[in-house]
Amino acid sequence: MRYDPRRTRKGAKAGGWIVLAVLLLVGCTAVTTPNWPPLPTRVATLSLGTAVPPPTFTPAPDHLVTVSPFHPITVTRPSTAPLFNLDDSSQIIGASAEGRPIVAYRFGSGPQPVIFAGGIHGGYEWNTILLAYEAIDYFTANPELIPPNVTLHIIPSANPDGQYQVTNGNGRFAATDVLTDTVPGRFNANGVDLNRNWDCDWSAVAQWRNNLVSGGERPFSEPETAALRDYFLAVRPAVVVFWHSAANGVYAAGCSETDGRSLELAQVYGMAAEYPLFARFSSYPITGDASDWLTTQGIPSFTVELKTHADTEWPQNRAGMLAILEEMR
Ligand SMILES: [Zn+2]
Repeated sequence: MRYDPRRTRKGAKAGGWIVLAVLLLVGCTAVTTPNWPPLPTRVATLSLGTAVPPPTFTPAPDHLVTVSPFHPITVTRPSTAPLFNLDDSSQIIGASAEGRPIVAYRFGSGPQPVIFAGGIHGGYEWNTILLAYEAIDYFTANPELIPPNVTLHIIPSANPDGQYQVTNGNGRFAATDVLTDTVPGRFNANGVDLNRNWDCDWSAVAQWRNNLVSGGERPFSEPETAALRDYFLAVRPAVVVFWHSAANGVYAAGCSETDGRSLELAQVYGMAAEYPLFARFSSYPITGDASDWLTTQGIPSFTVELKTHADTEWPQNRAGMLAILEEMR
């Protein structure tokens, strides 16, 4: 066929209209059909049309576990903080918005502290809390695995209000205690996402997948994040590791730029635990992240995202923990 410039221009013009129509259709679809469940009523509802850019996250398959029978819970403000029998290996490091204790467990007595924390996203990521308790049992039974120069700190439930929301209890629980709807348990009792409340790129309006969530009134406005901050600054650990679920990967931290030591340690854990390694979490913008803030204080940190919301993936995470302990020896 001979080259005809008019035919080409006409074709390009028609093609342009088709592209425009498709873009409009896609845009409308994205606005009118959100993919994620509606936010719970206890979460501060934030209006759309703010400065937060439109989300581009492509949702991964979810793995929320369904547990029966369903039994509704009522969160009430306790008149006094619950009492716990703690020995020398554990201590209460702070309290939640509703007065529930945040507990840290310690193993070994070396000068090099290492901290692992589960459950900053509460009951929504309840398997990270059970993972932490599994680790506590393991190192209680095997104290010789802590190198002599290391002290291991484990904070199983950094967001006990969020845990209570889906387990109807404080402290240890079983997978069968978990209610069907775990989304409300992501937040503390003030409806704040505790991993959006730290002082690195903080924003009152934060993002979680396609949802806008509360990052709090200001950095460290929440008692949980203030307690964790104070504990981290007092202990000055060589690394803080946060367990989350369920994006399947190890993510290094950094405030604006990836922190070099955080990336090294994330790689140590990721290789031993056989999780994919990422320099940063990039599926959607994260503001006020705990790990990112820690690097501004000279404390390396990274996030471990389990593969599902239902399994502790203990063999993998045991290997990752032991690799980090060995790295500190
Ligand atoms: Zn999380």
